[in-house]
Order: sequence, then structure tokens, then C-alpha cells
Amino acid sequence: MKVLVINCGSSSLKYQVLDMTNETLLAKGLVERIGIEGSIISHEKIGMDKFKLTTPMETHKDAIKHVLDALMDPEHGVVTSMDEIGAVGHRVVHAGEKYASSVLINEDVINALEECVELAPLHNPPNLLGIAACQELMPTTPMVGVFDTAFHQTMPPESYIYAIPYEYYEKYGIRRYGFHGTSHKYVAERTADILGVNIKDLKIITCHLGNGASVSAIKRGVCIDTSMGFTPLEGLVMGTRSGDIDPAIVSFIRQKENLPAGESTNILNKKSGVLGISGVSSDFRDLEVAVAEGNERAALALKVFAHKVRFYIGAYIAEMNGVDAIVFTAGVGENDINMRDVICSELGNLGIKLDLVKNKVRGKETIISREDSKVKILLIPTNEELMIARDTFNIVKGL
Ligand code: AMP
Repeated sequence: MKVLVINCGSSSLKYQVLDMTNETLLAKGLVERIGIEGSIISHEKIGMDKFKLTTPMETHKDAIKHVLDALMDPEHGVVTSMDEIGAVGHRVVHAGEKYASSVLINEDVINALEECVELAPLHNPPNLLGIAACQELMPTTPMVGVFDTAFHQTMPPESYIYAIPYEYYEKYGIRRYGFHGTSHKYVAERTADILGVNIKDLKIITCHLGNGASVSAIKRGVCIDTSMGFTPLEGLVMGTRSGDIDPAIVSFIRQKENLPAGESTNILNKKSGVLGISGVSSDFRDLEVAVAEGNERAALALKVFAHKVRFYIGAYIAEMNGVDAIVFTAGVGENDINMRDVICSELGNLGIKLDLVKNKVRGKETIISREDSKVKILLIPTNEELMIARDTFNIVKGL
């Protein structure tokens, strides 16, 4: 069965087609500037050169029409008719407390996801637009929703309840949800495969370090804690997000700077993190160049980032009463050799010893710990699309 994976943002759409008989990627692409002048689709049939088409795309439905045209294109396509696509898997950010795993999309699911719009106002609306457009254009094809929050639904209440009046949890659903769940689940499962150990016998700490970043504690295959919370703003220092701060800072800055409503949240989401500290960039590559040129604030930003990752690793070792494997994934985790080194330094007493030679690798599944390290350290490129396609295939094949 061929599965189409769709990940809709507000003005962009990423897609992949996978053949699930052998889990191979057939085609992938990106639509950008949906609803903005200069809409463009970049499509790649695996093994062929990319093709790009600039054409007006007012809505997500227009974008998906162009995706389907590209997939059926005689030269660059991978199917001859839409019927060859057995199912569509949709990435959806927030499913609240409703779903702890992926589900076949029906009206109830749509209603539940609409209820979650106020929890993820930037993400769920475009996700829902993508689902609606696909349903219109492919009315007989089954659709599956795969949720960023689902994997974290196993967290016990002591991990997800905030110490604020309990009624806010009851009335508004204010609790920790966690995000990047599909990625944390994928790399945890790969860890068990690579180590040849049943996931039920492992304690794993997964570090998804990208522009957005989070750490999860996964005990016996189940998430028991994660660093993101009610929104993806909590936890680690990120590219432009502050992560954990004293909540009193919000009203203090608002008063001092005389900020309009909503601006303090905007600052914490878009102007903080390593960008905020360094004043240089949110991209770790730029920061490393700046450090080499002697920029002290860029150096400080990287130190604060590493400190916070180490802080969570320590906390999760305590929470799980040990750890067997630590995994690095996403843009920084997969590529930043220096950052992995800095994070793992000074953890030798906990049995965590990075092999500095094996660590000199980017974007390739590798065990990067020393032979005498009690804890295995792994680099595993994340593959959320494959995870979405797997869930979709497993749900749909039983229909
Ligand atoms: P992601 O959100 O997972 O796509 O990660 C994107 C981030 O990964 C970028 O903003 C960079 O900070 C980081 N990144 C990508 N490649 C490298 C690299 N070679 N060295 C350091 N950081 C990198």
C-alpha cells in the first residue's frame, strides 16, 4: 500500500509518499507561500532531480491539488491514479487528552481536534484545513490522524499536573501535554532495535534538539515525562523560545516595557532562546561561527542551551532511577558534534561516556558512546513521516 503523509503549516505543506510493503520513500516535497504571492511547490521523485513550479495557490486545497498532480505526473509522479494511494496520514499537533494513539479520522475526531484549537491556535487550524482539503479531493480514501501529543499521554499525573489551582485543569485543561511525541517514539523504538533489547527492558532519554527542542523520559517503552508542557514553550532553551523561566518575569517585563497584550508571549516564543541571549541567530551553525570570531554572547547562548539539556538528563535519570540509553536527534542533535560533546561532558560519574572519535558523525545512525560507557549514547536521525506512515498503514490495513 502507498501512503501519503501530509504535514500542513499555516502557509506551508510538507508531504511524502511511502510504499509500505517495504517502507521505501517514493517521493517528497514542499509547498510554500500558500495564500501569499509567489506560491511554489518543490517536488522530488526519489532518484530524480527536483522540479519546482511557481503558481498561485490561494488555499490548502489548491496546494493539495498541485501535490496530487505532481504525484500523478507522467515523468515525476509515483502513481498513475489517485486510487493507488491507499491512505493519507495527517500530522496533527494537538489532540488534548482525547487520543493516546493515532486514529482513523471521522467526524468525532474532527470535532475533538476542533475543540483543541484553543490549545494550539497556530497549529491545529492548518492541520484541520489539510484534512478537510484531502477529504474533499479524495473522498473515498481513509485518513488517519497522528498526534504530537499522543505519545506523552502515558505521563502520570505527578508529571503533568501544574501546581496551580486544580480547577484550571478541570475547567480549561491546563496541564502539561508535551510535543514532538512522534519523534520521541520513533527514536526510542529504533534505540531498542539497534541495541537488540526489548523496549520494555529499557530506560531511555530521548533528546530531540532542533529549532524546537524537548527531552523525554521513556521507561519500558512508555513516556513518563517530557520537557514541553501546556505549549511547546516550556522546557529546554530553543532557537527562539525561552523554555523554563520564572513566570513572574512575564508581568514584570510587561510593566517595565509597557508591552501590549500578547507581546510578552510573542517575545518568549520568537525573540528569546539562543537568539535572545546571543543577539546573533537562532541557528546553531551561525552561533558556532560567531563563537569562533570571539563573540562572547554567542558562546554564552550555547553554554546555557547545553546546561539545560544536561539539567533535564540528570532529572530524568533521577525520575527513572537510572538510564540505559541517551539518544540525540533532530537538526542540532543529529549534526552538532560539538554540542553533543559539551552536553555529555562531566557526566562520566553517571556512567555516560561519549567516544570523541565515534561522535564525529552527522545524520547517520551510530552508537557514539565508549565501550566502557555504562549508558549507551546514540545518534538517530528522526523520521516522523515514516512513523506517521506506519501508524496510518497499521490502522488502515485492518479495514
Ligand atoms: P530542525 O528543527 O530539527 O530542522 O533543526 C534545525 C536546526 O538544526 C537549525 O536551526 C540549526 O540550528 C541546527 N543545525 C542543522 N545543521 C547543523 C549543523 N551542521 N551544525 C549545527 N547545527 C545544525
